[in-house]
Amino acid sequence: MSYDIIIKNGKIVSGTGNPWYFGEIGIKDGKIVKIRSKLNESATKEIDAAGLITCPGFIDIHSHTDYILPISSKVSSTLYQGITTSVVGMCGEGMAPIPVGRENEFKKDLSTMNPIFEQLDFPYHTFAEYLEYIDKLRNPANLIFFVGYKNIRLAGGQGNEDRSATIEELKSMKKYLTEALEAGAFGMSTGLIYAPQVFVKKEELIELAKVIAEHDGLYFSHIRGEGETVVDAVKEAIEIVEKSGCIGGQIAHHKISGERFWGASKETLRLIKEANERGVSISCDQYPYNRGMSGLVTALPPWAREGKDEQILERIKSLEIQERIKKDVKDGIKGWENWIRDEGFKNMYISSVNSEQWKDVAGKSLSEITKIKGLSDDWETYFKLLIDNDLGVMITIESMSEEDIHQIMTSRYQMVGTDGFGIPSSFKFGAYHPRCFGTYPRVLGKYVREEKVLTLENAIRKMTSFPAQRLGLKDRGVILEGNWADIVIFNPDTVIDKATYESPYQLPEGIPHVIVNGVIVIENGKPNRKGPGKVIRRSI
Ligand SMILES: [Zn+2]
Repeated sequence: MSYDIIIKNGKIVSGTGNPWYFGEIGIKDGKIVKIRSKLNESATKEIDAAGLITCPGFIDIHSHTDYILPISSKVSSTLYQGITTSVVGMCGEGMAPIPVGRENEFKKDLSTMNPIFEQLDFPYHTFAEYLEYIDKLRNPANLIFFVGYKNIRLAGGQGNEDRSATIEELKSMKKYLTEALEAGAFGMSTGLIYAPQVFVKKEELIELAKVIAEHDGLYFSHIRGEGETVVDAVKEAIEIVEKSGCIGGQIAHHKISGERFWGASKETLRLIKEANERGVSISCDQYPYNRGMSGLVTALPPWAREGKDEQILERIKSLEIQERIKKDVKDGIKGWENWIRDEGFKNMYISSVNSEQWKDVAGKSLSEITKIKGLSDDWETYFKLLIDNDLGVMITIESMSEEDIHQIMTSRYQMVGTDGFGIPSSFKFGAYHPRCFGTYPRVLGKYVREEKVLTLENAIRKMTSFPAQRLGLKDRGVILEGNWADIVIFNPDTVIDKATYESPYQLPEGIPHVIVNGVIVIENGKPNRKGPGKVIRRSI
């Protein structure tokens, strides 16, 4: 027998959590075909992995790479981390369905995030057509899709209005959801702090989740609050899974935001543990950083975010309404995640802005910008940024404690996810979150090698077999004969992230080789520009 690739002389970490072992791996036609302590057959390509770890490719359980794919499929920032499968359509926001005649509305909505979307064409309408379209791109890594609740709501429900769905709208949303699940979506995601998703009631989500349950799908949620309301928000997510009968649920990018609430992870992790003990399968994911990332607009009270962007802009230009916003921030609104009060302008840093005139403030906090621009106070800076950029401002927010990060990371229900996206190396827009470049090497370098928070084998389990099990993938996530050859080869003594908040566009070090479906996509740190990635559809 001759192989396409043999990986020689390496230590294998299987992905199961078991200790490493010496072994050589023979790969042919995309699959791992043989693992022995020594392989003497020939191969087209031999990789010498002496001193290195060979493990399954990382499955990024929470990715927003779907935003980037229509622009470029060269997802360097994730590929160089060793991510061989990205799970996309997260936080309730995906790229399909787009009902016929609603294309412009859809583009306009996306362009708040980045004006580039206004120039793009989206040559599909249904979820099935969307997956076919993605399949035709030359994707270097595999993709798994969830349908976003926001997409379902905009397509068939109450849109941006602050109200519950009518019976007709609920029926229509269920139809779009069914269509997505039948096309191969693994479940539905929600992002319950974002407008218009913030307006949905739990009961309506349980109704929709019953459709997910009928299709053996999963419920993934960016929960309703990660600060003051985090405990109630975790309870709500568990209740939606429990009452709908879904096979499983995921708390996305689990964190405790806001100094006053630090320590609450003990309680949230206890709730997750108890749910599992009574037969409700709940897990969570996490990125290893103390800052989150979001749109600046999401710091507004929910009532101020109702309707289309023009309506929101019109509203916040009124001085009277600005005063009402300030009052609500000061007094709080029950159930609302109040960033300005709980994190403060001094902890909000600009990632990107849509207008040229503000490009020079990337990386600065709102409080710093007030001083630089000589504005009267941080509130003036806040409203000016939103108005001048047509709401298009992304921020990182310093909000988490290292203690909660450790608590969550060491929970047996935690797995690793970036909450980031693949950024082509030619792109330079703003100061995006370093998690897009450094999540996996940071866990392996900082939290495994330097701080010994996790063992190497356990960390790799959280990046490979655990997310594979969550998704029901039977042939990925473990180094096993017969499985797809998604493989990462890295140096455990040197692997480390290099991206920082100030300078995020830095690839990690210590990950020389990445293989996707038996094809080398990174070799000795150089990209091969091949597109072996597959769209993995949920198998029924
Ligand atoms: Zn999110």
